[in-house]
Amino acid sequence: MDPGVYILGAGPGDPELITIKAKRVLARADVIIYADSLVNPAILSYAKKSCEIHKSSSLSLEEIEDLILRKVKEGKLIARLHSGDPSLYGAIREQISLLEKGGITYEIIPGVSSIFAAAAALKRELTVPELSQTVIITRIAGRTPVPEDLAALASHRAAMVLFLSVSNINKVVEKLVSGGYAEDTPVAVVYRASWADEKIVRGTLSNIVLLVKKSGIKKQALIMVGSWLVSDAIDGRVTRSKLYDSTFSHEYRNAREKPFE
Ligand code: SAH
Repeated sequence: MDPGVYILGAGPGDPELITIKAKRVLARADVIIYADSLVNPAILSYAKKSCEIHKSSSLSLEEIEDLILRKVKEGKLIARLHSGDPSLYGAIREQISLLEKGGITYEIIPGVSSIFAAAAALKRELTVPELSQTVIITRIAGRTPVPEDLAALASHRAAMVLFLSVSNINKVVEKLVSGGYAEDTPVAVVYRASWADEKIVRGTLSNIVLLVKKSGIKKQALIMVGSWLVSDAIDGRVTRSKLYDSTFSHEYRNAREKPFE
């Protein structure tokens, strides 16, 4: 049986990067409330003709709650569409608590986060053996406070991806360098990953502020930091995964060769 509300990940922008499950829900929904700033309106073509569509950017949380309560009482199936995956900077926690307080059942369907669309656009793996096996997903403090200290996070020199921070890229770079990344650490800024107007700006911590300023990118972008951005072919390092290494045995395969001395 359907819950009262589906919270759906719409994916990063390309209307084909939505899950089959979310698409099926959209086709049946009576009401869709969508985050219009980052959800591609083309996705709404999956909705049925009679579906009522609301943009969430012009509504307060209370207004969204009122709308949902009203529609649930009318027996309508509601889909709340979030950009990327709802669990990353989706502000769903407060919605969830309102639904739970109201005794409204809900289900969350995950989506492809922009972090993965950006990695795909860059044609890179975020977790490169011997470079970094850790991805730090964070943001700079804006109106929303950030409990963790960015400079302390930088001290790991892991792969780092910053959401909601491109308008403050100068502050980001300052913190990252003071925290421990070298000035020549590669950085890529990916604007509207998977959209038709996607843009990539590549540089290092020493010049990315200027490059981003020149590009005019002020929002809807991810800042991606770390040596994982450099391809093997360029830096010549041996960073092969053990999984496909012929000297490495695992559950599905025995080693064929002796490891190099
Ligand atoms: N839940 C979303 C993130 C929402 S917060 C996700 O999983 O992707 C909004 C921020 O996400 C933006 O400010 C930007 O930093 C990032 N973002 C969302 N979609 C993007 C895209 N297609 N390309 C680059 N960054 C994107």
